[in-house]
Amino acid sequence: MNRILASRAYNNFRCSFFRTMSSYAQEKTVAIDAVLRASRVCQNVFQKLVSNETITKKDKSPVTIADYSAQAVVNTILAKSFPNDPIVGEEDSKDLHGEDAANMREKIYDLANSVLEESQTIKELLDAIDRGCYSGGSKGRHWTLDPIDGTKGFLRGEQFAVCLALIVDGKVRLGVMGCPNLPVDAKNPEGEKGCLFVAVEGEGAFQRSFESNDLKPIKMSAVSSTSESSFCESVEAEHSSHSDAAQIAKLLNITRSPVRMDSQCKYCSISRGDADIYLRLPTRADYEEKIWDHASGDLLVKEAGGEVTDITGKPLDFSIGRTLKANKGVVASIASIHPEVLKAVQDVLSKKN
Ligand code: AMP
Ligand code: MG
Repeated sequence: MNRILASRAYNNFRCSFFRTMSSYAQEKTVAIDAVLRASRVCQNVFQKLVSNETITKKDKSPVTIADYSAQAVVNTILAKSFPNDPIVGEEDSKDLHGEDAANMREKIYDLANSVLEESQTIKELLDAIDRGCYSGGSKGRHWTLDPIDGTKGFLRGEQFAVCLALIVDGKVRLGVMGCPNLPVDAKNPEGEKGCLFVAVEGEGAFQRSFESNDLKPIKMSAVSSTSESSFCESVEAEHSSHSDAAQIAKLLNITRSPVRMDSQCKYCSISRGDADIYLRLPTRADYEEKIWDHASGDLLVKEAGGEVTDITGKPLDFSIGRTLKANKGVVASIASIHPEVLKAVQDVLSKKN
């Protein structure tokens, strides 16, 4: 009995020791707070500014306002806790300075301040947006932010994500993604929505709902053969070739229809086992993927036990600036089937050239 109690006490001590020893603990707390607040901005914009008319007229102004406001919120929060950390963000404020942008500035001011603890002036918010202009690289620490990944999904009321990652010496160490429209349980698509995904290098992948503080571990599914698997791809065929993916699926004997979804929610979905493969197949030879479109997703999948490479089998290289210029496309999947998936990708794509 004493031995059992002693072993339990040792385990409790070990768990709390490692919890306090967790790398990037402060960064994780701050990033979660920033992503949740920015996600709230996006939800507010959708409720207040997106209407049927916006969608039918393909008016992108609500998503533009949400994009700027979310970046202002995240960068303001990061600057408070980590004033020396540069940020590679998707947006800059150059289109927000003229007289014709006065209305837009007012909306950004109201939206950002509605979720920030300390009210900011419009100048402070524009400066915060411009903290995202860092060039990236292989030395030291920087953050990368996509304030709204999946802008088309946002406007359709479908999937989009606020994506934030910390890169240290060229490697992604922390990733946090807020997915306001993603069901907490994929088996219950009409149930609660709003999921937060968190990964720290070497510490696993986790999910919680927006409403709960309880981070639960997630992992990739465990299919033994590609014929049992399903794959995700972009809704937009300009972002990833649907026709090439269909041929690859055929080679892998995949019979299930592709799960089409905007944004890095695809990485989140496969990380928790909703699907098994994510294919992003180049549509243009000259397109360079952006680091903010992949950093947090790459780490989440790896920490959930998966593998992520480009279509040539190289790991994604986040150390060379704002883009993944050393890579082409993305192949992410359960580790056990990754070589087979990669071979099918290469077989199909080599026949095109
Ligand atoms: P997704 O929602 O997965 O289709 O990805 C959205 C992201 O695709 C956007 O954030 C853009 O940065 C990126 N994107 C834009 N054009 C292309 C392209 N030609 N190929 C791949 N990605 C693109
Ligand atoms: Mg994006």
